[in-house]
Amino acid sequence: MIQRVRGFQDLDGVAAAAASYIENLAARVARLYNFGEIRLPIVERVELYQRSTGETSDIVEKQMYVFPEGEQSEQLIALRPEGTPGVVRAYLEAGLDRSNPEQRFFYSGPMFRRERPQKGRYRQFHQFGVEVFGRSDAVCDAELLVMIDDIARFLNLDVTMEVNSLGCAECRPAYRAALVEWGRAHLNELCEDCHNRIDRNPLRLLDCKIDVALTKQAPGSLDFLCEACRAHFAMVQRLLKATSIEFVINPRLVRGLDYYTRTAFEVLSGDVGSQSAVIAGGRYDGLVEALGGARVPGIGFAIGIERLVLAYERTLAAPSSARLHDKAHDPDAVGAVAGTKDANGSRRVDAVVASLGDAAIERAFVVAHELRVPGGKAVELASPERKLKAALARANKIGARYAVIIGDTELTRGVVQLKDLKAGTQREVATADLIDEMGATT
Ligand code: ATP
Ligand code: MG
Repeated sequence: MIQRVRGFQDLDGVAAAAASYIENLAARVARLYNFGEIRLPIVERVELYQRSTGETSDIVEKQMYVFPEGEQSEQLIALRPEGTPGVVRAYLEAGLDRSNPEQRFFYSGPMFRRERPQKGRYRQFHQFGVEVFGRSDAVCDAELLVMIDDIARFLNLDVTMEVNSLGCAECRPAYRAALVEWGRAHLNELCEDCHNRIDRNPLRLLDCKIDVALTKQAPGSLDFLCEACRAHFAMVQRLLKATSIEFVINPRLVRGLDYYTRTAFEVLSGDVGSQSAVIAGGRYDGLVEALGGARVPGIGFAIGIERLVLAYERTLAAPSSARLHDKAHDPDAVGAVAGTKDANGSRRVDAVVASLGDAAIERAFVVAHELRVPGGKAVELASPERKLKAALARANKIGARYAVIIGDTELTRGVVQLKDLKAGTQREVATADLIDEMGATT
């Protein structure tokens, strides 16, 4: 009898149904956040991963399936181990970094890593991921975390969200140096892999699956942040608190690669040992440039579908222990958005929400979220770092029906300005009536 290859799985029954359900749900939620789907090849040139994932990463050093392209070419290609490099490659190949840098993509599909198979760790697994290009503001970071929270709530999952800031090109070197010093001081206690990591990629000391207890004593990144990174991270937290999202700050959470900057996060579920991370992501402001593009910031995350299925199955098995299922997060609430596309395939965006002035940022954040869940509207939240004119230009560019504008006066009076971009009219609407008002005229 011919058996399946080690580390590869057959999925059927409940597990297959749960995987499809989660992928569909994630896509529906992604459309509420105005992400558009991108479908990419399963193979890319090895060089792409060397230059993005990084030569010193476990993935590139020992986990990739690599083979020659073919008879005509000595070039090496690899089965994709992760999604982000391919999305950046496609973005650059389309010239978007220069012609239209602000983009939001989601992808879904199999990834391949030759690592030791265990429960929750396979050689072919699936990821659903999103990437935002062209946004450097903290609002964007907080939004991705809220989006993750939405997905977790729709699935009624009991998860922990850990967030950190890794600093930037200016403040990271000092943190890096502190880690090197710490690593040298504990050389005898570190595993063999970590001996190599000290000089090549010291942040990854904290990612070690062996020296877990020891690394809890290593220096944390937050003590080294520069003023700008500190302010950025404070804003992320301020927005998460405004939406009552539960999160834990973990100053030793890292993403091991140089292009990762500022916000990094992981969502943990249950206790599958070192397989408890179900979602991971962060900001990568240096990546587009590192791959030869313009200086465009980026941020994204990836869901490990198999691990989320395990978590979901635990929830199904023990509904009473699961986190309270609030009505706003009834999956049917997003049912209406399942086909957020016009017949011609272009995306439907209901609104761009823009804030004017610092005080209104939180209100805009909360309003945008309520329009999405439970409102079922596809919404983009404008960067507060840009002028209103730029937000309106963006709204027109992406074909949004409305702009929702909130300034200081609106804030104190509990109203918003609802601008109908199709009709060219604007009126004041009570915040509480906004969803209905938009519904009435869509
Ligand atoms: P880990 O630390 O568990 O090895 P990672 O840092 O390598 O994870 P990422 O590259 O950040 O993982 O991928 C995002 C998510 O994809 C992970 O949080 C996890 O849920 C999932 N994932 C990664 N590798 C595997 C695998 N071999 N099998 C199943 N799921 C995986
Ligand atoms: Mg890994």
